[in-house]
Amino acid sequence: MNITTRNILEVRNLKKYFPITGGILSRVVNSVKAVDNISFHIKTGETLGLVGESGCGKTTASRVILRLIEPTSGNVYFDGEDIFKLRGRELHGLRKNMQIIFQDPYSSLNPRLSIGSIIAEGIGAHGLAKGRQKKEIVEGLLEKVGLSAGYYNRYPHEFSGGQRQRIAIARALSLRPRLIICDEPVSALDVSIQAQILNLLTELKKDFNLSYLFITHDLSVVEHVSDRIATMYMGEIAEIAETGEFYSSPLHPYTIALLSANLLPDPRKRKKAVILKGDVPSPISPPSGCRFHTRCPVAREICRSEWPEPKEISRSHMVRCHLVDASHPVPPIVPA
Ligand code: SF4
Repeated sequence: MNITTRNILEVRNLKKYFPITGGILSRVVNSVKAVDNISFHIKTGETLGLVGESGCGKTTASRVILRLIEPTSGNVYFDGEDIFKLRGRELHGLRKNMQIIFQDPYSSLNPRLSIGSIIAEGIGAHGLAKGRQKKEIVEGLLEKVGLSAGYYNRYPHEFSGGQRQRIAIARALSLRPRLIICDEPVSALDVSIQAQILNLLTELKKDFNLSYLFITHDLSVVEHVSDRIATMYMGEIAEIAETGEFYSSPLHPYTIALLSANLLPDPRKRKKAVILKGDVPSPISPPSGCRFHTRCPVAREICRSEWPEPKEISRSHMVRCHLVDASHPVPPIVPA
C-alpha cells in the first residue's frame, strides 16, 4: 500500500507521569515523567521507527496509545477519532484496529493454549467467525506467516523463538488491524532470524494494508523497515526525519551519538563513536532546560536553563536543539 496523506495515528502533547506516593497518608510526593509532551503522526501505509535507549519512554508511549494505561494528559487520534473519549463497544472496536507485537515471544504466548486457540482467541472475542470458518482463518494466517497449517494443535513450547514470533504476528493479524505497534519485535531473536522476521513484517504490511509504529533501540534494524524515524530521550522526542535524511544528515547531538555507535557492516562507512559521558538522569527530576544537556558534548549555557522548542527544519524534519534551526540547518560538530 502506498503512503497516503491521511494520518492513521496522531499523537498530540501526550504525557504519562507515574505518581510516587509517600508518608503515612500515601500522598503523591513526586512523579516519574515517563512520557513528556510528545507529538508525532503516522500516515496510512507508513512505518514510523521510534528509537532510544532503554527507559526513554518509548514502550510507555505505546501502552498509552493502545489504551493499556491511561494518559496524564494529551490526545491520541486514530483515524481522526480521539481514542481517550472512547468507552465500551467503541473502545472494543478500537482494540481490533490497533494491535501489538511484543518483544519476548517466550512470555507473550500462553503456554497452556494451543497455537490455534491463541490465534483464534481475538477472532472469537470480536465475533468475527465461529467453528470451521474460524479454524480456516487461523490456518490461513499460519501459512501467511510461513508456518504449516498443521501446527494448529501444537503448543508454544514446541517452537523456536523465531517461530513463536511468527505465531505472535499471526495473532496480531487475526483481527485485520490497521495499525500494529511492533515493540522490539526482533530484539530477543538470533541475528540470523531477525532478517526473516523483518522481511515478513515488510511483506505483510503490503498484503494487509498495514501501518506500523516500530519501536527499537537498534538503529540497524529500524533503517530497513521505516519510512521516518524519531529519536526519543527522557520522555521527549528529540528529532524526527525521513529515514534517508535521518541517516545522512542527523542534526540532534543525541541522534548523532546514537548513529556513531551503530556498527555498520562496511568498515569504510563506520564513524568514530561519540561516547556519551554519564548516566541517563532520573526521570523523577529531569534536568532543567534541554534534558540532554548533562550528557551533550556540545552543550552551551543556554541549554542548562532554556527548554529547546521543536523546530521544523523542513516539512519532514523536526529537531529540538538550541544550536540548530531552519536558517542554520547544520549539525553541531560533536567531538568523537
Ligand atoms: Fe545539546 Fe544544547 Fe542541543 Fe540540548 S539544546 S542537544 S544540550 S546543544
